[in-house]
Amino acid sequence: VRLDDGTVKTFVGYRVQHNLSLGPGKGGIRYHPAVDLSETAGLAMLMTFKCALVGLPYGGAKGGIAVDPTLLSRAELQALTRRYATEINMIIGPHVDIPAPDIGTDGQTMAWFMDTYSQIKGYTEGAIVTGKPLELGGSKGRAESTGKGVAYCVNFAAEKLGMPINQNTTVAIHGFGKVAIPAAYDLGAQGAKIVAVSDISGGVYDANGLDIAKCEAWVKENKVLKGMPGTKHITNEELFALNVDVLIPAAIDGVITKDNAHNVKAKIIAEGANGPLTKEAVDIVSQKGAFLIPDVLCNAGGVIVSYFEWVQGLQSFFWDLDEVNKRLHSIMKDAFENVYATSKEFNCNMKSAALVAAIRRLERAMKLRGLWPS
Ligand code: NAD
Repeated sequence: VRLDDGTVKTFVGYRVQHNLSLGPGKGGIRYHPAVDLSETAGLAMLMTFKCALVGLPYGGAKGGIAVDPTLLSRAELQALTRRYATEINMIIGPHVDIPAPDIGTDGQTMAWFMDTYSQIKGYTEGAIVTGKPLELGGSKGRAESTGKGVAYCVNFAAEKLGMPINQNTTVAIHGFGKVAIPAAYDLGAQGAKIVAVSDISGGVYDANGLDIAKCEAWVKENKVLKGMPGTKHITNEELFALNVDVLIPAAIDGVITKDNAHNVKAKIIAEGANGPLTKEAVDIVSQKGAFLIPDVLCNAGGVIVSYFEWVQGLQSFFWDLDEVNKRLHSIMKDAFENVYATSKEFNCNMKSAALVAAIRRLERAMKLRGLWPS
């Protein structure tokens, strides 16, 4: 890639397709300095399980470039994205492997990617990526879909526990980004009190419920939650230990561990982030009787609406927001019930049940397709 100063720099990028038994590969593209083959392969495998679990006609894939995107100019990022798209164009396609945004990439990245692929082919191919801006064939409801799916799952779990979400429900959310904010709005709209949210700078707390719009406006101005007037400052660790009904870790992985899982008091723990609880923490909170909604189920709303975007793109026919949300709800409800029934069948927690349910579907597909050439 030629940089702004005229020098040429080599970056290392990957695209991994893990299992394509159920359909074309699906998975995001990550721009982060820690990207390597092993992480990309692991994330591709998770996508296989996530797509299988929620019944999408996709296999699992993932891509990435080892780069800190904040150190590149807009022109350099564009050049990097177009180089990457060119290098992998022969192993992707709307019926082969369909990338999407992930950490460090966004709708603009997808627009450059789609444009590069389309120029190589000689015609516009919108269905090559999802997570596109609306003007280029993005789907209504995609931006808030992951958080909305988290809120749906919290409701499904609350129903099972006989404690419906209402004005008496208290919620704490770790993270205040693309997943956390829509989840907070949706649960707040049902009357729940969002008593705490946090980000990299720490958390804010109000026993009477935070005004999420005000928090969002503050972060827009000040970049982080810290200093938000009219609220009490708490640490991220204090947030995990709050006496709330629902805890939603929706920031990063590995934050609830064997060291702090004992402090968690929430009855429902919804894994908005990927892998926020370590394996030991899952065991501890399960033994304490918490209802854990596992990440592959809880945050699948994003890939489900990505699937809707792909379907709409292939048909060049676009749905209204109501239709998107109705279908999202229906798919998440079916997947939740499947995981719940599997947890009863095997007398295991929802985390193990989600993997069992996903691998079962994959196994059936692989056996039906058979081994060929044998
Ligand atoms: P984001 O960058 O929009 O938000 C992340 C939030 O976490 C920010 O508020 C940030 O300040 C906070 N944060 C980062 N490090 C932290 C730390 N050490 N302690 C406390 N807070 C910290 O990211 P996002 O898209 O909301 O993704 C959050 C998680 O959800 C990630 O694990 C991601 O892989 C997962 N996820 C996202 C989507 C999606 O559609 N965005 C879909 C599936 C899974």
